[in-house]
Amino acid sequence: MVSATWMIATLLAQQPAVEPGLLPKSWATGGPNCLELPDWQFHEYNADFFILRESGCSHYEKPFLYLIFGEKRALLEDTGAGKTEVAKVVTGLMEKWAARRKATIPPLLVVHSHSHGDHTAGDAQFAALANTELIKAGTPLDPVIDLGNRTIDVIPIPGHDTASLAFYDRKTGILLTGDSLYPGRLYVRDIAAFTASARKLVEFTEDKPVAHILGTHIEQSRTPFTDYKVGTRYQPDEHSLELSRGDLLELDQALTTLKGKPVRVILRNFTIVPRFQLP
Ligand SMILES: [Zn+2]
Ligand SMILES: [Zn+2]
Repeated sequence: MVSATWMIATLLAQQPAVEPGLLPKSWATGGPNCLELPDWQFHEYNADFFILRESGCSHYEKPFLYLIFGEKRALLEDTGAGKTEVAKVVTGLMEKWAARRKATIPPLLVVHSHSHGDHTAGDAQFAALANTELIKAGTPLDPVIDLGNRTIDVIPIPGHDTASLAFYDRKTGILLTGDSLYPGRLYVRDIAAFTASARKLVEFTEDKPVAHILGTHIEQSRTPFTDYKVGTRYQPDEHSLELSRGDLLELDQALTTLKGKPVRVILRNFTIVPRFQLP
């Protein structure tokens, strides 16, 4: 259900509810020729919202990272998988951003979607960077992060991992959901917590615009109900990164129907996979 309140407010304001941006039609995955691919692919959603994707040639998980700029500081979600020079890549992007604005490079705050190794492998590199605050996964965060004229809401969503967090960027209306909701296999460690977290996100977004829901992997094919096998590096026909609030509603409904039963549920754009032995 769409909230009437923000729709009316938007109509009265006569301006978009959120700052717009563009997503690519497809991303590099991993191959077919690994020699041609850099470790990291970069996309500018808009001038202050960057997306990085690790190459499947570097690590089959090929996670996504998000770099968001406010007026006072920048926020990075996650540090990647395996061994790459991720801090150098992020620093290079921050330098470009600052040069374009004729500004100094802002301080960087590094947070995590959750604690799994494919999202934290670059932590030590960022811990060693000047002007950077690295918050370890699992550290409780304030419910709101102020980047300077840009507010990010922090929503704990345990279930995939006890440390799982969602981040909502009020400026773009983008909801970052980590490994808890993305086009692929949603591994559930704690089904009761995961169910409650999906409900929490539905309720959180009830009165807010949601431009996109962006997670941290793609494992789904463009063919409905079909995913690539675990460990696939080259995915020439992978699903788009972006999901919508409709997908969140579908997840919430499927989990509500399960009533806590750990059953695999294959849906159009993702699969719920009960798994209790995650590292
Ligand atoms: Zn994970
Ligand atoms: Zn992951």
